[in-house]
Amino acid sequence: MHRFDAIKGNQRIKDILQHMAITGKVSHAYILQGAAGMGKRLFADTFAKRLQCSDSTSGEACGVCSSCIAFNSGNHPDLFYILPQKTKTLGVEDIREQIVKNAEIKQYRYPYKIFIVEHADSMTVAAQNALLKTLEEPPSYVLFLLLAENLNGFLPTILSRCVVMKLMPIPQREIEEYLVQHQLAEGNTAAMVAEYAQGSIGQAIELASSEDFLAMRQEILSILENIKEKDKPTLLEQAKQLEAYKQDYRFLDIATVWYRDILVAKTFGDGRFLIQKEKEKQLLHHAAKDSIQGILKKQHIIQETKQLLTQNANFRLAMEIMLIKLKESYNS
Ligand SMILES: [Zn+2]
Repeated sequence: MHRFDAIKGNQRIKDILQHMAITGKVSHAYILQGAAGMGKRLFADTFAKRLQCSDSTSGEACGVCSSCIAFNSGNHPDLFYILPQKTKTLGVEDIREQIVKNAEIKQYRYPYKIFIVEHADSMTVAAQNALLKTLEEPPSYVLFLLLAENLNGFLPTILSRCVVMKLMPIPQREIEEYLVQHQLAEGNTAAMVAEYAQGSIGQAIELASSEDFLAMRQEILSILENIKEKDKPTLLEQAKQLEAYKQDYRFLDIATVWYRDILVAKTFGDGRFLIQKEKEKQLLHHAAKDSIQGILKKQHIIQETKQLLTQNANFRLAMEIMLIKLKESYNS
């Protein structure tokens, strides 16, 4: 575990981090930026483990020295994870208590004292200013790995003292391979999950193992597949059922992928480029009984619903409108 060669994608960043570890030319602060589930924490952990390793002269941690053993036990004396304690954002007290005071004390026995700051982009301005004092004159042994989804919230003075590394989405094909290799999903399910994961291994792993997600998909698809034949009272009843997903809008992504595939099936007339291969028969059937106009209309309705929900529309009402419009779109 925690070897660079086991991490998928982002080869350039792996090369840079390994090179720095080998040459010992390490900065005091890095920001690892990327969307949720993109592997920020995995990169930070792997880099930290390698930097603290007592034996390794290669790009990878040895896995057997006392530092590696401590790391594997989850209790490394010179590695600290910083998280908000009281609220969702990292406040000035979090930074003072967990970083500033601690950074003044020399490391216990390994090369660095490493602070991995999760959700660093949630730091308040006061918290950043507190951190800045340590960043401006860091003790030689201190190293910061700040994990952030985006850079907008950082003070320029913080950014100028950090090396920013941007993690890129991983190609769908590689995510699919990863799922299969690790026996998390196979065949069509792996392809389908990789599509929903949008470049994030973390997201893919979560989806592949989430019974909730798979159940949600089954329910949504069963509604969409039969919508044309349903009468209005039934649709209103289904809109009520959808309230179960009030906090989880992924069902709209499921709908998006569904109609995307129907459009592809309509365009090519066969199953060549489908994402949801296991639904090929149904998708071709739906493509045959709908017009291009009708399919585009449906895609538009889903987009419209997404927008409505981000504007805090009444959820139940939005569902009712969506289902009725989807049904009506068969006649357009
Ligand atoms: Zn080691």
